Amino acid sequence: MKGKMKAIIKKENKPGAVLDVVDIPKISPDEVLVNVKVASICGTDVHIFGWNEWAQSRIRTPLIIGHEFAGEVVEIGSNVKSLKVGDFVSAETHIPCNQCFQCKTGKQHICKNVSILGVDINGVFADYVALPEICAWKNSEKIPLEFASVQEPLGNAVYATLEGGGVAGKKVAIFGCGPTGLFAIGVAKVAGSSDIISIGKHKFRMEIAKKMGADHILKYPEDDISKKIEEITDGEGVDVVLEMTGSQDAINYGLSVLKKGGRFTAFGIPSGKVEIDIANGIIFKGAVVVGISGRKMFDTWYRVANLLESKRIDISPIITHKFPLDEYEKGFNLMMSKERKAAKILLFP
Ligand SMILES: [Zn+2]
Ligand SMILES: [Zn+2]
Repeated sequence: MKGKMKAIIKKENKPGAVLDVVDIPKISPDEVLVNVKVASICGTDVHIFGWNEWAQSRIRTPLIIGHEFAGEVVEIGSNVKSLKVGDFVSAETHIPCNQCFQCKTGKQHICKNVSILGVDINGVFADYVALPEICAWKNSEKIPLEFASVQEPLGNAVYATLEGGGVAGKKVAIFGCGPTGLFAIGVAKVAGSSDIISIGKHKFRMEIAKKMGADHILKYPEDDISKKIEEITDGEGVDVVLEMTGSQDAINYGLSVLKKGGRFTAFGIPSGKVEIDIANGIIFKGAVVVGISGRKMFDTWYRVANLLESKRIDISPIITHKFPLDEYEKGFNLMMSKERKAAKILLFP
């Protein structure tokens, strides 16, 4: 399709991003062109916008940012077989090579040569995006547009919560009340967890944690996390820890409140190296440690779609703000404010 479009572009190697008018992308034979209907701001976008150390080492400018979205296919490449014009799609944002050991053994989500939408290639904060067929996920029309746009982070939560033994009848501690931590509360609830302990920092988000089904809300750093969890679990510790923050403190608390033989799931990405007590936190506990990167392709996506389509999970409390794409800076400023008064923020091109 020829023409121009609006896009949020990281143009220079410094904080911020600009709204600009650029050419509508040309698609390759293996891609589809998607008209973006709604996109959502992810922590990764905030890192790129804010230009942290990771972004400086990874991002090559200029780049159209954004990766979480839902939209309509308006053009298909000559090799594309599974999609047609008019299809309603979202995207698995990890684009696998399909050649490496991991890809060939059913682990595309940890592909060695992965490239990521809105990180390594142009993303979705725009009117249109060129999307590889392999990453396009066809949505059911039964799923509301706004929910469809956050399936990628919801998928992280589904994968993190359910991988490594499920949570039915188990006590789960979820560290972090960012969107993925909040989604994980909802997932643990529908998956039958008996006690959900949410540990967070921001009052606004902890109210959402309550709405999502957390049974106990602990505030960091004011509450004595270890003591409270000991009380809640009769001194046994929790069966499952979902570590969604990447902070040194949360990781240490998580390992210390984990029951012997329990599961520690690591999802939050630390900003640098962290120090942990491997002997007492993992070895003597016989702990199972599960690392979560991305979403299983496409097992996680089917589960997410089923949960949304069946309305078993209601994620509406987590979607707190909606802005037109032009007002993206409002969204980013909210996401970066010291006291976080937002969870998922949607942008409408
Ligand atoms: Zn994301
Ligand atoms: Zn690969």
